[in-house]
Amino acid sequence: MGAVLFSVMGCFVMTALARRLLLIAPHNSYRIAPYIEAASRLGIEVTIASAGEHSLIDVISNGLHIDFSNQAEAIATLLAAAREKPFHAVLGTDDASVGIAAELACELGLKHNPPAAAIFTRRKDRARQCLQSAGVPVPGFQRIEFNQSVTAQLEQLSFPCVLKPLAMSASRGVIRVNNLDEALAATARIETILRDVLLAEEREAILAEAFITGREVAYEGILDSGELKCLAMFDKPEPLNGPYFEETYYITPSRLPAPIQQQVHSIVSDACMAYGLQQGPVHAELRIDEQGNAWVMEVAARTIGGECARLVELATGQPLENLVLAQLLGLELKPAVFEGGAGVLMIPIPSAGILRRIEGLSAARSVPGIEELVISVRDGHELVTLPEGSSYLGFIYAVADDAAAAEQALREAHSRLKIVTAPLFKLQAAGV
Ligand code: ADP
Repeated sequence: MGAVLFSVMGCFVMTALARRLLLIAPHNSYRIAPYIEAASRLGIEVTIASAGEHSLIDVISNGLHIDFSNQAEAIATLLAAAREKPFHAVLGTDDASVGIAAELACELGLKHNPPAAAIFTRRKDRARQCLQSAGVPVPGFQRIEFNQSVTAQLEQLSFPCVLKPLAMSASRGVIRVNNLDEALAATARIETILRDVLLAEEREAILAEAFITGREVAYEGILDSGELKCLAMFDKPEPLNGPYFEETYYITPSRLPAPIQQQVHSIVSDACMAYGLQQGPVHAELRIDEQGNAWVMEVAARTIGGECARLVELATGQPLENLVLAQLLGLELKPAVFEGGAGVLMIPIPSAGILRRIEGLSAARSVPGIEELVISVRDGHELVTLPEGSSYLGFIYAVADDAAAAEQALREAHSRLKIVTAPLFKLQAAGV
């Protein structure tokens, strides 16, 4: 209740100040809608800058249009817009837009992260290099260059290891390999996936990393003038041993012992300092090995997004995007204390093919603790599994007395679903 009152007060303050936010986003970003809702709750006027000139969504088609592949021109367009009607804050929603946002905010003298730090959210090799130099625990790594003998480079690796693209997300192209033959096959597979990548420099190499065994946690926090505050920590209770790494269960609060949670927090804070980050949302993924040591898998200057962001709202009493915008515009929002447990299951794709139907939806929804079950793909849709695909079928959302009960509710609901697929027959061009 206190939190609700606070946001109403915040809304009044913000309306009185008539704040303007520039949100820079890829036109298809699922982070746009929650930010627009948060801005409207807080009385903030939003302009969207994206490439979506022909978007069917008004705020995008009526917003500013920029070409993400030409950063200098994009910045010039946005500076001209800011001269006409000044912005009070600039925010990049996704990996692809945090760089432009940082650069523009810097030019406009607004709160920002160092533009040079944006590269660490996007490029895994540069991020590893930065963190290793700063003494932050990251797996041993090495770039595998495509313009040199790949076999000779792979022969030097110790197995098991993980091969991955330099700049992709959602575990796309991330493959664990246990020996040289698997490494050669995986490299060829990733090279094919990289055909979708626009920037040539991101197609010229992949990253090989030592495989870190152990359980994984996700961390969501917010930086204010370099000080990191933890908003929520999530356990990923499903073992993630590869060869592919599908996101499934996220459960909060974390059941890891307090000293390990503290270690996770201070490692994420060290990583932010190493990147030079000062402001805004931080999303991180870490692995805890058998000795209880935490290793950074990823630290990014953006929100977790999607359904997991709803868990943050539950844990803090404020929508995550409210917290981000309030921090950016200097508004105080009081987080609430959450006593229960909550979780999300991103429903995994059981096998590649055509989705025929999903049975058992009502039975799954009737499991105590299940708040929502949404299927986001339609019958007839082609399901593509990892490492080539990057989507999931939908999600189940649970709230219960504690984390264990929330996880149990999700597992029970998932066990009641039957996902029926049919094989996909692809015609091959003659001679291929
Ligand atoms: P993305 O940014 O596409 O999510 P990541 O590099 O974060 O790619 O890897 C995705 C997942 O793959 C991680 O969350 C983790 O489960 C697994 N993974 C990646 N690298 C390693 C590693 N070196 N050791 C163990 N698991 C790894």
